[in-house]
Amino acid sequence: MLRVGITGGIGSGKTALTDWLSRKGIVIVDADLVAREVVQPGASGLAEIVEVFGDQYLQADGHLDRAAMRQLVFNNEAKRRALEAITHPRIRAALAEQMQQASSPYVVLSSPLLLESGQSEMVDMSVVIDIPEALQIERTMARDKNDRALIEQIIAAQISRENRLALADVVIDNSSDLKSLHDRAALLHETLLNRGNRH
Ligand code: ATP
Repeated sequence: MLRVGITGGIGSGKTALTDWLSRKGIVIVDADLVAREVVQPGASGLAEIVEVFGDQYLQADGHLDRAAMRQLVFNNEAKRRALEAITHPRIRAALAEQMQQASSPYVVLSSPLLLESGQSEMVDMSVVIDIPEALQIERTMARDKNDRALIEQIIAAQISRENRLALADVVIDNSSDLKSLHDRAALLHETLLNRGNRH
């Protein structure tokens, strides 16, 4: 089965694109969702985090204190690596399993970290959805009611637009309106159906 990675920076329109493909019956495997599942209470990933980092990273209700964990690894490379050594293999295994089980003409892996986390090795091609940074900020601010500084910080922590575009097999421009995005999605879908048939 043809496996297609879709990525893009914050607020670029990944969800808008994958929602459209999903309405056409394409299975979308969501790396953000899986990343949360591997640290849910009862998951072995959470148990190992507690073993390595201690139970001070658990909230009273047994869920991972994601904010405290983020704070801990933010400026600490060794701790970040230790955390990723627990989460990344589990995320990859779960993504691979979900992609394998998918029954659609092709399957999409939607991941903000597709190009940064080695997940691009799990797909046959990478589609980047792209908009200028000013529009990323504008649309994310309108959606999340976050302040500009926080969004700029997130953009700065993500792979640069230039590097992301350099790694893309296909680029979808989403700087126009939603109708234009849907037209582009339809073209992409047609191309992928053809490739999927030949795969
Ligand atoms: P994140 O990485 O933050 O999850 P995302 O890449 O999934 O973001 P979306 O949530 O799809 O991005 O889009 C960001 C916001 O911009 C949403 O409110 C969405 O409705 C809006 N949006 C997406 N595409 C367009 C467009 N072409 N025109 C106008 N608004 C758009």
